[in-house]
Amino acid sequence: NAMANRMLEDLIVLARGGCTPHPVRPHLASTPVLPEVNTGASGKAAPPAAPYGRAVANSESVFKDVSEAEAATTALWLQDTYAFSNSARVVRVSCVPTDESQKENSRKWEVVLDATIFHPQGGGQPSDQGQLAADGREWRVLAVRASKSGVVSHEIEHEGAAPPFAAGAILTCKVDEGFRCEAARLHSGGHLLDVAMQACGCDIKPTKGYHFSPGAYVEYAGKLGAEEREALVPQLQAHVEALIAQNLPTSVQTLPARQLSQLCPSMAANFSSPSDADKPIRVVTLAGLAGPCGGTHVRHTGEIGRLVIDGIKTKGKATRVSYHT
Ligand SMILES: [Zn+2]
Repeated sequence: NAMANRMLEDLIVLARGGCTPHPVRPHLASTPVLPEVNTGASGKAAPPAAPYGRAVANSESVFKDVSEAEAATTALWLQDTYAFSNSARVVRVSCVPTDESQKENSRKWEVVLDATIFHPQGGGQPSDQGQLAADGREWRVLAVRASKSGVVSHEIEHEGAAPPFAAGAILTCKVDEGFRCEAARLHSGGHLLDVAMQACGCDIKPTKGYHFSPGAYVEYAGKLGAEEREALVPQLQAHVEALIAQNLPTSVQTLPARQLSQLCPSMAANFSSPSDADKPIRVVTLAGLAGPCGGTHVRHTGEIGRLVIDGIKTKGKATRVSYHT
C-alpha cells in the first residue's frame, strides 16, 4: 500500500490527452515497469496498473533514503535522442543488498553519476540499455531508475566485495544505439496513434501508454462497440501510414507551466495552482499534437518507418489499441 501511495504521488492529474507530464527535473517513479499513465475524463488520477514485464530489484528503500540528500542528476537524455554517450563523474557507488546465494558469485551495485545519457525507466518507456566504462573495463547496465528528486541510479553487476570504482572517478556512459532508437520509434508511435485517433474522429481520451516491445499499446478511456472497433483498425492504419509518409517534425520545448494553455490547453488545468505556475515542463509536439512528456522521440515521423495496428480490444471501461513498429 505504501508503494501504491508513492506511485500515486508520482502521477500528475491530467484532464485529457498527451502523456504523463514530466517537469525538467524528471518526475519519474523508481518503480517496476509501468505504463505511461494519464487520467480518465473524470479528472481523477487512475490507480497505477499492475507491473508489466520484469520487476526491478527491490533496492528502492535504500536508494530513496540516500538519494534525498543528493543533487539531481543532469538529465542528458532529454536533450538529444541521438546522443548515445557522455562522460560523467561518479557521485556515489553503493552495494545493493542481495540474498546470500547471489553474493557468492557477484554483487549488484548502484551507481549515481553527475550526468547521464541513460533514459531511466518511467513514463511508459523502458530503461535504456548499455554500459558504463572506465579504464578499459565495462559494466553492463541492468536497470536505470530515477528518484522523485531526479537522482538517477544505474544498476551494474561486479564481482568482489570492493566497489568497481570510487566516487569522483570519471566514467563513460554508452547507450545501446539500436535499443534507444527502437524505444524512440515505439514511444513516438504511441503519440502518433493519438493523432490518428483524433483524425478518425475518435474522441476518447488516452489514459495510458505502454511503449515496450513486445506488447506496446495505448489505452483510451471509454468503450467502443465491436463493429466500431473492427472498422477503426484499417482507418487508423491508413492515417498512421499517411502521417509517417508526410515525415512531420517533432519539436521539444521547455516552458513554465502557466504557458501550457497556449500549446495544450487541455493540460493547463493540471498546473493551475500558483505553486506550479513557474514549474518547467517539457512539452513534446509530434505531428502537431503537443503534450508534456519525458521520453526520447524521433525527429520526424518518417523515422518510425512503419507502425502496425495489431488490434483494438475493450478492457473494462477502456479501449486498448495494440501496435508494433
Ligand atoms: Zn510520451
